[in-house]
Amino acid sequence: MKKTATRLADGRELIYYDARDDAVRDAVDQRPLDPIATRSEIRHDRLLGDRVAIASHRQARTYHPPADECPLCPSREGRHSEIPASDYDVVVFENRFPSLAGDSGRCEVVCFTSDHAASFADLDAEQAALVLDAWTDRTAELAQHPAVEQVFCFENRGKEIGVTLGHPHGQIYGYPFVTPRTQLMLRSLGEHREATGRNLFDDVVADELADGRRVVLDGEHWVAFVPYAAHWPYEVHLYPKRRVPDLPALDEAARTEFPQMYLELLKRFDRIFGEGEPPTPYISAWHQAPYRLTDRGEFALHLELFTIRRTSGKLKFLAGSESGMNVFINDVPPEAAAERLREVASK
Ligand SMILES: [Zn+2]
Repeated sequence: MKKTATRLADGRELIYYDARDDAVRDAVDQRPLDPIATRSEIRHDRLLGDRVAIASHRQARTYHPPADECPLCPSREGRHSEIPASDYDVVVFENRFPSLAGDSGRCEVVCFTSDHAASFADLDAEQAALVLDAWTDRTAELAQHPAVEQVFCFENRGKEIGVTLGHPHGQIYGYPFVTPRTQLMLRSLGEHREATGRNLFDDVVADELADGRRVVLDGEHWVAFVPYAAHWPYEVHLYPKRRVPDLPALDEAARTEFPQMYLELLKRFDRIFGEGEPPTPYISAWHQAPYRLTDRGEFALHLELFTIRRTSGKLKFLAGSESGMNVFINDVPPEAAAERLREVASK
């Protein structure tokens, strides 16, 4: 993998990740861009104890542009996009419309491929491995950013999730605090350690493997299962079998096996609702240990993949119980979801 860092016309950072070590990335951003003025502000909710990012400048962001004006496609003569090069493998750059910026963290965009019409599931193993390299590198790099406490690599796929650009891409958020969901996991982790002397993540993975009913994929270095108390209609958690706190800590064997496992899961997601159905909207979310945690080795890196579609043509909305009270109601039993995800395995 070859990494080349450069700057866009407004000063934002852009990094190419190339499979070929001899790739040359010297194209210059030719757009007359004003420096970015972001007014993102983190407000603390005194009742709930959580935080909200107020980012009014995002209202002006690019919204469903026509394919020939896609800002994530490579640049070509007469049409300059966010990526100055005329082609690329994987590219990461600072979001022009960040929810978090400056003292409030960092937002980056990851373009998985220069092919506008592809999706992550269409990538080959080598391309997916390059995306894994980029996620890993960004996680290691953002550890040096003074405002960033926790890094979140994720992909929103599909209009139904609110994706405003069709080009296959994901995002990386560097939060200036430990997120509420991670705090909940850390609390459970501490309580379990106190009560049993064991690691909760290890026990969850071992219990799922022993039970087997919710296991979807069992590889040599990774296991994927529908969690016992799945919140979403179809939800899969993918864990490396050797517990590590974050992506940079993955060993070579796990890194090598990851693409085939993840690509297979994504392909199965697109088959859940049968032939002729539009691609399954999904959210794919990496959970990693916050940087400044004393016993961060206790945390288990894992990926949570889920869809908000519950049946053909119908979405699961976060309605009164979920939005009002944080109580999820899931119509699809996790064992049935796992059964379906095994049925649609690649032949
Ligand atoms: Zn595009």
